Amino acid sequence: MVETPYKLISREYSRFFGDKAAHRTVHIRNVRLGNGEPVICAGPCAIESRAQIMRIAEEVKKAGAHLLRGGIFKPRSSVHSFQGLGANGLEEAEEALHWLREAGDAFDMPVVTEVRGESMVELIAKYVDIMHIGARNMYDQDLLVSVARQQKPVLLKRHFGASIEELLSFSEYIAAEGNKDIVLCERGIVPMGKGKSYTRYTLDLAAVPVIHKETYLPVIVDPSHGTGRRDLIFDMSCAAIAAGADGLMIESHYNPAEALVDGPQMVTPDELADIIAACRTIHSQVRKG
Ligand code: PEP
Ligand code: MN
Repeated sequence: MVETPYKLISREYSRFFGDKAAHRTVHIRNVRLGNGEPVICAGPCAIESRAQIMRIAEEVKKAGAHLLRGGIFKPRSSVHSFQGLGANGLEEAEEALHWLREAGDAFDMPVVTEVRGESMVELIAKYVDIMHIGARNMYDQDLLVSVARQQKPVLLKRHFGASIEELLSFSEYIAAEGNKDIVLCERGIVPMGKGKSYTRYTLDLAAVPVIHKETYLPVIVDPSHGTGRRDLIFDMSCAAIAAGADGLMIESHYNPAEALVDGPQMVTPDELADIIAACRTIHSQVRKG
């Protein structure tokens, strides 16, 4: 028998998730992710105020989103960039978490935010329905273990330099804690070559069917970070659903130009509604039955 570094989540090797042929459905409160209709997670890159997250929540819900996202602890390349409201201290972090919870509850959407370090795990677990481990932290096995122990669903994004095998190997740290509610996310890898790549990252959509063949786990696609370009989100969302993605994570804002982070890749709620409608059609035509 050939060894695999991800026995617990492997379709081939494990009985951990039951039936060999099954796909796992992750329950995030009332939302079922995996093995069904595509689940859309939308919201701003970063929460900037209570009014901002409340308005975005209302508008993305109207557009058809199921889950609400919003960053509070942002991973940034420069210490001089906006780091998220969580950087202002514990009180501000908790206040922003409270707004996220409030917005999710007001518009009946489970909420997700990124856990950037171990020290924030317990605080964030008190407020969110699914814990998000960002691309930069995919390799942080201590963070993975401590997030897994909260016994909440976990969203694990692929590092931009990671192979698919590494993504699956590291998700095994979560499964090994007895937490089966893992959602994987393809969000693009570092572009190759010396010339212009035209996109922020290279969205590896082949990862979607590969992950489905290799594991039981649902996988979503983030075309926002995957392209960095608002004008490409519609096309790549459609392509992701056609490839079998169980959902999408799409950054959205009523006025992307005023956003402190990732404005160029954020779609408006109207654009989001068009994306969701197209994805529903594609899913019913290409993936169902
Ligand atoms: C995010 O989703 O807010 C984010 C920072 O994405 P990634 O970790 O994929 O860069
Ligand atoms: Mn972002």
